[in-house]
Amino acid sequence: MSDRRLFLVGLAGIIGLLLAGCSTAPAQPTTDDLAPAPALQPTPTLLPAPQATVTTGTGGLPWWNDRIFYEVFVRSFSDSDGDGIGDLQGLIDKLDYLNDGDPATGDDLGVTGIWLMPVAQSPSYHGYDVIDYRQIEADYGTNEDFKRLVEEAHRRGIAVIVDLVLNHTSSEHPWFLEASEAGSERENWYIWAGEPPFVNGPWGAPAWHKDGDRYYYGLFWEGMPDLNYRHGAVTEEMYDVAEFWLDEMGVDGFRLDAIQHLVEEGEVQANTPSTRAWLEGFYRLAHSTASDALLLGEVWTETGEVVKYIGDKVDVAFEFDLAGAILESVWRENRAAVQAAQQQVLDAYPQGQYAAFLTNHDQDRVMNQLRDDLEGARAAATLLLTNPGVPFVYYGEEVGMRGAKPDPRIRTPMQWDGSETAGFTAGTPWEKLDPSYETRNVAAQQGDPGSLLSHYRQLIRLRQEQPALRAGDMVLVDSDAQPVYAFLRFTGDEALLVVVNLSSEPVEEYALALGQGPLTSAVSAALLLGQGEVSAPTVNAQGGFEGYRPLPVLPPRSSTIVRLAP
Ligand code: CA
Repeated sequence: MSDRRLFLVGLAGIIGLLLAGCSTAPAQPTTDDLAPAPALQPTPTLLPAPQATVTTGTGGLPWWNDRIFYEVFVRSFSDSDGDGIGDLQGLIDKLDYLNDGDPATGDDLGVTGIWLMPVAQSPSYHGYDVIDYRQIEADYGTNEDFKRLVEEAHRRGIAVIVDLVLNHTSSEHPWFLEASEAGSERENWYIWAGEPPFVNGPWGAPAWHKDGDRYYYGLFWEGMPDLNYRHGAVTEEMYDVAEFWLDEMGVDGFRLDAIQHLVEEGEVQANTPSTRAWLEGFYRLAHSTASDALLLGEVWTETGEVVKYIGDKVDVAFEFDLAGAILESVWRENRAAVQAAQQQVLDAYPQGQYAAFLTNHDQDRVMNQLRDDLEGARAAATLLLTNPGVPFVYYGEEVGMRGAKPDPRIRTPMQWDGSETAGFTAGTPWEKLDPSYETRNVAAQQGDPGSLLSHYRQLIRLRQEQPALRAGDMVLVDSDAQPVYAFLRFTGDEALLVVVNLSSEPVEEYALALGQGPLTSAVSAALLLGQGEVSAPTVNAQGGFEGYRPLPVLPPRSSTIVRLAP
C-alpha cells in the first residue's frame, strides 16, 4: 500500500469517527431509555493507520491468498483422553491428516490454515458465549496446550486463526454479573433500558431481556448480552484481548463473529456507521500489534454490504451470496446462479479479497443441501477450490458428512473410521454420531482414488501447485449449454481453463467462447484434472476463442481443468 493510500485510509477513518461523534445525544445510554444513536466515545487508543504492510505472496497478493483453510470445531474433531469431548491434544494428534508438512507425501489433505471455532472458556457446548477471554475452555485443555498446538501447526506450514466473539459475552461472564448490579462500575459495559424498547432481533425473537426491574440488550439470545462499544473501557478491554491472542498465544489472526451487529444506532441493529467506525479502530490496533494478522469478518449479508468492510475494517469476509449460489447451481444443474454471483463478486472486491466457502457451522451440510448427491458435492468442491477467494472447508465436508439443523446435528463428531465411535473417542461421543459415519469416513476413502476425499486432496494439491489458481485473475467463459460453467484463471504466463458440467447427464453439444482473453497466439492444452482426449482452442486476435470444445464429451457432474500454455 502506498503512503498516499495509507494517508487517505487514515483520513477516512478519522472523518468517520468525527462524524460518528457529531451527535449531541448523551455519550452513553441512560438506564431509563435507549438514547437515540448516542455518540461513539473516541476509542482510547485510536492509532494511525498501520505503517507496516502485510507480507505478500504469489502475484503480490497478501499471504492469505496462498492459503487453504479448514474450519475446525474442536469439541467434535478428536478426543485424546476418552471423555467423549474433542480437545486440543486430539487436534494436535490429527494435524498430520490436515497437513504433515512434507510436500512429497500425498496422503494428507494439504490445507495450510485452520480456523478454530471459539476455544475460550464458555458454559455452552459451542463456545460463542464467553466467560473468560484469556483462558482456554477447560474441556479443550490449557493455554499451554494451545501454544503447543500453534507451534505444531506452524511446524507443518499451517496458520492458525481463532474465533473472536466481540459482540456479546455470556450472561454468566463476571463482567455481566457485576454489571447487572445497578450503579456498579461495570454497568455501562452492557446496554440497559428501564422499559423494553420492544425491538426484536432480525430473526423475530426479543432482543431485550428482563433483569430485575430493567432490561438488557442481547441480540442473539438472553444468554448472550451485547457488549456496549459506546463505552471506551469495553473497547480498551477487547483491544487488550486481541493483543493477548496475537502476542501471547501466537495466533495468525481472527475470525470475527457477527461483527455487523457491534454497535446499534437506535433501532438499526446491523451495519451501522458506528459499527464500521469501531472496526476501523480495531483493524488498526490488530495490524499495529501484528502487521500480518488476518482479520476475517463474518458479515452475514449481501455482497454490496459486505464489501464496505473490506480493506480497512477487516481484510476479508465470508461471501455468503457466492456460497449459496454455488450450491444452488449444483442443485439446479444450471450455471445461472453461480455465474451471476461470481461476476458480482469479481466486480465488487479487490482481487481475491474475500473468503469462499460452501457451508459452515451455522448451515446444513453440503450433502444435505444436495440431497446426498456425492457427484454434486464433487462439483461444488471444484467450484470452491478453484475460486479466487481464500477457500474455507468446513470439517468433514471432504468425506461427505451429513448434518441438518438443529445446530448440534451440523456439528457432530468427525468421522475418522467405521468403528463404533467413528474413531473420534475411546469413550462416548458428546453428541451422537451422524449415521453416515459407517461409510462416509476418512479410513474408507483414504486409499480410494475415486473418493470425495481424494477429489478434495487433488484439488488442494493443484491449487498449491498452480499460482494461477491462488492468485490469478478470473474471467468467465461463455457457454451455450446451461449446465456447463467455465472460466479462466490466469497469470502473465499461465492460463487454466476450468469446466464444470453441472448436469447429471453427459454433455456433448456445447461450445465455449471468450470474445477477448489473455491467451497468446498459439496454445497447447494439457489436462490437469479430468479424463479424455483434450484439444486446444484456436486463439483469436483478441486472445480469446470461440466454438471451443476441450473434450468431446463432458461426463456427468465432471470437473475438467486444462492448462493452456504457449
Ligand atoms: Ca477430551
